[in-house]
Amino acid sequence: MRTMTKTASRDLRNPILQIHHLSKSFGNHEVLRDIDFTVYKGDVISIIGSSGSGKSTLLRCVNLLETPTRGEILFQAQNILHQGMDVPAYRAKVGMVFQSFNLFSNMTVLRNCEVGQEKVLKRGRDKARENALKYLRKVGMSPYINAYPRQLSGGQKQRVAIARALAMEPEVLLFDEPTSALDPEMVGEVLEVMKTLARDGITMIVVTHEMAFARDVSNHVVFMADGVICEQSDPERLFTSPKNKRTQDFLSRFIQQ
Ligand code: ADP
Ligand code: MG
Repeated sequence: MRTMTKTASRDLRNPILQIHHLSKSFGNHEVLRDIDFTVYKGDVISIIGSSGSGKSTLLRCVNLLETPTRGEILFQAQNILHQGMDVPAYRAKVGMVFQSFNLFSNMTVLRNCEVGQEKVLKRGRDKARENALKYLRKVGMSPYINAYPRQLSGGQKQRVAIARALAMEPEVLLFDEPTSALDPEMVGEVLEVMKTLARDGITMIVVTHEMAFARDVSNHVVFMADGVICEQSDPERLFTSPKNKRTQDFLSRFIQQ
């Protein structure tokens, strides 16, 4: 299935998110400039680029944690930037996994995965529990349902955060450097879960420094520098014959490390 997704022409599929001419300034500092890209159903998009290039700000705009200064974001052809947008309902469809997990520290693992379903999706307790258990099983966290976040390792916390996002059954999942805060020995378990999601056909946008993940798992790679998209293409082309000088420099720095 993964192979099919990777080789199928992207633009023959339905666009889920369309970003047009998106710009974002903080005061006089323009941190995103004229960003254009489209996310199709089943895409696994990696966003790569140096620190400070605007990757997090872009994801935060897509998740409505920041308001763009200019431009348009269409979710399933609907403009999400208009006044009166139901933000919690939108965020249930476009979930986000953060570098720092952001679990509710006063709730058990199970409760972390139930509460959004009850509050936002208005699911009953039984249905929310059933769903939470299903996704906790998927990320290998069933044995820890009664634990509190402080009792878990970083890798386990991130897997719970992924289960919590999945339990909302989103259309798209955004990941902002999901493995950057982890001890090296825990990176693999989180990447494995993300690979499984990709194989299952979950649409994902992943900001990452894991070049092997970007190359092997995603079907589209976006390279950003100084608030602009310098280059975007399928991973084979971007990693083997980058056209843009800045992409070439970035990749050669990575390969030297
Ligand atoms: P990346 O995720 O690629 O490291 P960011 O999106 O976090 O980059 O940041 C891009 C630029 O925007 C940086 O120069 C950063 O300092 C600036 N920036 C990010 N958030 C804010 C903010 N809330 N206020 C002011 N500047 C910000
Ligand atoms: Mg960032």
